[in-house]
Amino acid sequence: MPHDVVIVGAGPGGSAAALALAQRGVKDVLLLDRDPFPRDKTCGSGLSPNALKVLDGLGLGEEVRKLAYPIMSVRIVTPGGKQMVLASNAAAVVLLRRVFDNLLVEKAQSLGVKLTTGFRADRLIKDDSGRVTGVRSLDGVEHHGRFVLCADGAHSIFSTDPRPKRSISTLMGWWEDFAYAPGQLDMIFDKNVSPLYGWMFPEGPNRVNIGICVDGQDEEGQKSTRNLRQVFQRFLDDHYGPQLKQARPIGKWKGHPIVYTNWVGHCTAPGALFLGEAARITHNATGEGIYQAMQSGVFAADSVAQVLKGEKSEAKAWNGYVWEHRKRFTAGFLGGLALRAVVASPILDNVAGAYNHPTVRKAVVKLLGSALAGSSISEVTTDAAKAAKAAKEARDAA
Ligand SMILES: Cc1cc2nc3c(=O)[nH]c(=O)nc-3n(C[C@H](O)[C@H](O)[C@H](O)COP(=O)(O)OP(=O)(O)OC[C@H]3O[C@@H](n4cnc5c(N)ncnc54)[C@H](O)[C@@H]3O)c2cc1C
Repeated sequence: MPHDVVIVGAGPGGSAAALALAQRGVKDVLLLDRDPFPRDKTCGSGLSPNALKVLDGLGLGEEVRKLAYPIMSVRIVTPGGKQMVLASNAAAVVLLRRVFDNLLVEKAQSLGVKLTTGFRADRLIKDDSGRVTGVRSLDGVEHHGRFVLCADGAHSIFSTDPRPKRSISTLMGWWEDFAYAPGQLDMIFDKNVSPLYGWMFPEGPNRVNIGICVDGQDEEGQKSTRNLRQVFQRFLDDHYGPQLKQARPIGKWKGHPIVYTNWVGHCTAPGALFLGEAARITHNATGEGIYQAMQSGVFAADSVAQVLKGEKSEAKAWNGYVWEHRKRFTAGFLGGLALRAVVASPILDNVAGAYNHPTVRKAVVKLLGSALAGSSISEVTTDAAKAAKAAKEARDAA
């Protein structure tokens, strides 16, 4: 007997889909992954306000906020070296992916989702009409489902999207005993990584991750040949030299591409949906992808549940699936393109220079707030002491 739904990939996209299906009363859901859980994932592990909102909808927001490290302020450094510190009042948090992904999987299991790990999917199984009916592993194990959800991330082997893949290249590392303002996250729009940025995300009171992201291709679409290790070393020296002298590195630097699109498409097939990063749904300027993957998983669960309950035909539900994504994400993608243009121009430096003007301040909050994935940034100041005080007050109140 085929399962109701088979999901390949138990990252935030696949496990949010599994959880949302169980919450919608779909009983027989099989979640597959090649890795045993808990497992690591190369990631900044930042959860934006939008991500927390989706988690609230999945019934996990409170637990995640309890386990995570709250971000109280965001320090933005412009390409010309000017600073703005924005108070975020725990609107965003950081939670290690090893813990976060496992939490989602366990919550799905607690609602009856079956998890099978050690399953390395190799290809989709199709019937004579070309309809997807299951998935086969490298060693020949088959699982059949009335529907198959493909959530196998950036290197998806299932994606049928014919458009050239666009990606952001990343390199990151982890340190302990790194001195930083408590609760403060850095986004550094360094000219050497323009139009993208480098970051420092605190994972807890004593541990941070630092990384850079750069375009994975040049203007002609050719794969970038930049030496990322050299760019990263220079970034570390330029921005964190003194702190790193006192800090202790944990493990090796790691890199992984982030695949993105500016227009969601090619994410349905008869019997199957593609979701999260497997469908290229990440933010094109910040590289955020956890929120997008979970939201995509919830959209997939909605669409499949509608068909299983006989509320919609598959064609109608699949069409709705594509448009729900476009409605939710296109404005953010356009904001991302605008942010890239701003970062590549002198605008950000000029804005930082004029931040004291109330209209400029309001515009900065609005532009950066929406471009940085809809965060509810409430205050802008270049006075770090003032921001640290505001952050402390917010933390005490929380
Ligand atoms: C360096 C870096 C930093 C980032 N920082 C952030 C951040 O701070 N905040 C944020 O929101 N986003 C961040 N992202 C993006 C985010 O990590 C991804 O966009 C997000 O994980 C996508 O979720 P997903 O569920 O679609 O795919 P993934 O999380 O990639 O999950 C895919 C799952 O599929 C499994 N899988 C893959 N292939 C197979 C196969 N053949 N068979 C079986 N299983 C398979 C994998 O084991 C994995 O568990 C970052 C990315 C990188 C590279």
